[in-house]
Amino acid sequence: MNVHDSEKVIGTLLSQGYLQVEEPEDAGLVLYNTCSIRDKAEQKVFNRLQNFKREAGKGKVFGVLGCVAQQEGEKIFDRAPHVSLVCGSASYPRFGEMLVQLEAGSRRVTGLNLETDETFDTPFTRRDNPHRAYITIIEGCDKSCAYCVVPFTRGPERSRTSESVMAEARGLAERGYTEIQLLGQNVNSYRDPSPAGWDFAALLARVAEIPGIRRVRYTTSHPRDFVKRIVDAMDANPVLCDHVHLPVQSGSSRVLAAMDRLYTRDEYMRRIEWLKNAGRRYSLTTDIIVGFPGETEQDFQQTLDLLDEVQYDSLFSFKYSPRPNTAALAMEDRVPEEEKQRRLLTLQEKQRAIQIRRNAEWIGRIQEVMVEGRNQALGQWIGRTSDNRTLNFSHPGSNGDSLVGRYLPVRVTRSGPNSLVGESVSVV
Ligand code: SAM
Ligand code: SF4
Repeated sequence: MNVHDSEKVIGTLLSQGYLQVEEPEDAGLVLYNTCSIRDKAEQKVFNRLQNFKREAGKGKVFGVLGCVAQQEGEKIFDRAPHVSLVCGSASYPRFGEMLVQLEAGSRRVTGLNLETDETFDTPFTRRDNPHRAYITIIEGCDKSCAYCVVPFTRGPERSRTSESVMAEARGLAERGYTEIQLLGQNVNSYRDPSPAGWDFAALLARVAEIPGIRRVRYTTSHPRDFVKRIVDAMDANPVLCDHVHLPVQSGSSRVLAAMDRLYTRDEYMRRIEWLKNAGRRYSLTTDIIVGFPGETEQDFQQTLDLLDEVQYDSLFSFKYSPRPNTAALAMEDRVPEEEKQRRLLTLQEKQRAIQIRRNAEWIGRIQEVMVEGRNQALGQWIGRTSDNRTLNFSHPGSNGDSLVGRYLPVRVTRSGPNSLVGESVSVV
C-alpha cells in the first residue's frame, strides 16, 4: 500500500513539472514515505533524516509523508528542524496544493487532518511495473485492534465508487496491464458508496471480467468481513488468483478477544474450511503476532497448533511492538523481549518445515507463471504462479530476449522452503 501511495505521490509531482532523479544527493526535494506499524520502521525514518541533515544547508527541501508523519505531526519539525513538510496519507488529496506552498517558500507545511471522507484518486500515477498495477479501493480502517496504529494514522474507512475503480481498471487493461492488485487495509470491507452499492465480492467479479486482465489479486482481508460470497466469486472465475491472505494474528480465542479482533478461532477456521472445500486449491497465507500482552505459553501453543491445522503456504510473523495511542499500551503482563524472540523463532521454524513439505508437493506439476524478471547470476527467469509462489525457471529458447510480462507454463523440478525451480515446457 505504501509503494502504491508513493506511485501516486510521484505521479502528482511529475504532473506539476518535477523530475525524478536516481539519488537523493541529486534532488532538490526529498520526500520520505514512512511506516509506523512497528517501532523499528519508525526509528528508521529518523535515522535517515539525520543522515541527510547537513544537506539541508545546500538548499534541499525535506518532507515526511505517511504514517510517521501523521503520528508524530508537528513534533517532527522539532526533532528534525530541516523538515519543511509533514503530511499524512489522509491529506494526499491536497498534496498538489502543499507543493505550491513549499515553492512559495513556506517552511512549515502540514497535512494532518484525519477527518476526511475523501480518497486519493488521481489520474497521475507513475507506476513502477508495466504489467502489474495496484488499485486502492478502500482507505483507512474503522476497526480498533488493540495493538494497531493504523486507525490513528490512516483515518476512517472510506471506499471509492465502483465506477471510478472500474474506470481505472479498464484504463490499465487498455494500456496493456494484465495483472491488477486491489488494495486496502481491509480490502474486503469494501462498500461502494454510489447507488450501485456493490460489495467486495461483486467488485472482484466485475474487475475479473475486464477483457485483457489475466490475474486479479487483493490484499489484505480481515477475517470478520471475509464472507462466503468472496469464495464463490473466486471459484467462478480463475482470473481471480489462487491465493488468499487472511491474517489470523493468534490461534488463541482468548488472545484474539484481548486484541479485539472480532472473531474467534472457530470462526476463523470456518473461513479456512470454505477455502479448503472450494472448487480450486487456494494457497493460504497469514500474519501472526507473538508476545501480545498476556499471551501465555498455552496461548502460544494454540498458535502453533493452528499452523498444523491450516497448513499455510507462507506467513509474516512479528513480535508485538507497543504503539502510541493503542489500547494494548495500557495492558499489563508484558511478555519479556527474550521470550518474544524465542516464540518468534519457534514459530518460524515450524512454518519453515511446513513450507518445505508443501512446496515439495508441486514437483512434477506444470504451473503457469507470469514472468517478473531475470536472475542473471543463476541464469534463470523469475516467475510468479497464480497462487503467489516464486517459480524460477530456465527457458532454453529465449536467446536473452526479455520474457518479462509473458505468461508461460513451467514444470516444477525442485523446491525449497521459499520458492520453486523449474523449466519452461513451451517453445516460444
Ligand atoms: N488490516 C489487516 C488485518 O487486520 O489483518 C492488517 C494490516 S497491518 C498494516 C499488517 C500487519 O502488521 C498485521 O496483520 C499485524 O500482524 C502486524 N502488526 C500491526 N500492528 C502491530 C504491532 N503493534 N506489533 C506487531 N505487529 C503488528
Ligand atoms: Fe490494524 Fe486491525 Fe485495522 Fe487491520 S483491522 S489495519 S490490524 S486496526
